[in-house]
Amino acid sequence: MHFTFLGTSGSVPSAVRDTTSIVVVVPEGALLIDCGGSPVQKLRRAGVDPQALVSVVITHIHPDHAYGLPALVRNLAVLGRQAPLTIHCRPEHVEPLRSLLSLFSTLERPGMFALTVRAIGLAEDAHAFDLGPLSVRTSPNEHGAMPNFAVRVDVTRRRSVVYSSDTRPCDAVVALARGADTLVHDATYSERDRGRAGGHAHSTAAEAGEVAARAGVRRLILTHIGAEYHDEVDARGRDRARARALSALRRVAPRRRRGGAGVPRETRRLQSEVACRHARADAMLTTRVPRGTPAPPRRRRGGPGVAATAAGRTAPTGRTPLSRRAGVRRSGFP
Ligand SMILES: [Zn+2]
Ligand SMILES: [Zn+2]
Repeated sequence: MHFTFLGTSGSVPSAVRDTTSIVVVVPEGALLIDCGGSPVQKLRRAGVDPQALVSVVITHIHPDHAYGLPALVRNLAVLGRQAPLTIHCRPEHVEPLRSLLSLFSTLERPGMFALTVRAIGLAEDAHAFDLGPLSVRTSPNEHGAMPNFAVRVDVTRRRSVVYSSDTRPCDAVVALARGADTLVHDATYSERDRGRAGGHAHSTAAEAGEVAARAGVRRLILTHIGAEYHDEVDARGRDRARARALSALRRVAPRRRRGGAGVPRETRRLQSEVACRHARADAMLTTRVPRGTPAPPRRRRGGPGVAATAAGRTAPTGRTPLSRRAGVRRSGFP
């Protein structure tokens, strides 16, 4: 059981990050939360069989969260899907999403599989559906004039992840995330641009940290990061990887003494191995909080352990290794 990111950008993608989308996988199937462009391609890059999708959640109908839906549905049909698929959304968005699919005659084609667009409940912490051991619950959030909701996925007797979707900081997300292992939160803006965040009903990275601290989550992953910050946060990540590599090299390097015998062969091998490992990590690096953003909440009892990682930068190889870098694939639902 694991989850991974198909994208972590705000509404405009950059060359390395597409718009925010998350897939949660269990042996019984997969759940896609929000649907940016080319979902089938990105699912394949993430190593998820597109036909394993059982449910798709569309949190709201801003284009970056819904525009990939017709392509997804049509692609699944062309690939020979017969199994039904359910799309979960707010009641106000059932008809717009059906219209979006009808625009491409997606639903009317012969041999089309059964597709249901189902409205979620609008109460806080409302149960939406189950998928195998997953229980999915939702709460309305605060995204300005656009009706929207946050999603919590619990694995039976195990871990949980909460996705805020696009929102300004709000009590409903704090409540939904209370006690969760991981909070994935809107961080469209740097704290230095807090004024812009409020005006657009989004959050800054620091505000996401505050929500995580109030909710008492173990880990915070920033997402929906504005494209204008991508280069900066990736550069910061590379700097951190280099610092780690240097630190590791210092640990294995022998202390040179006057008249010493030089570097033993085994130590040279270790140095080379460490350098290669960190070079690879560097190439696959994830993001850190943009420059100018106040430090995330420090690790403390009851507070989030990490408040700075945003996964999902698409590497040139076509993989999404950053989700692993963020500890997602291996530690999302270990
Ligand atoms: Zn968005
Ligand atoms: Zn939005």
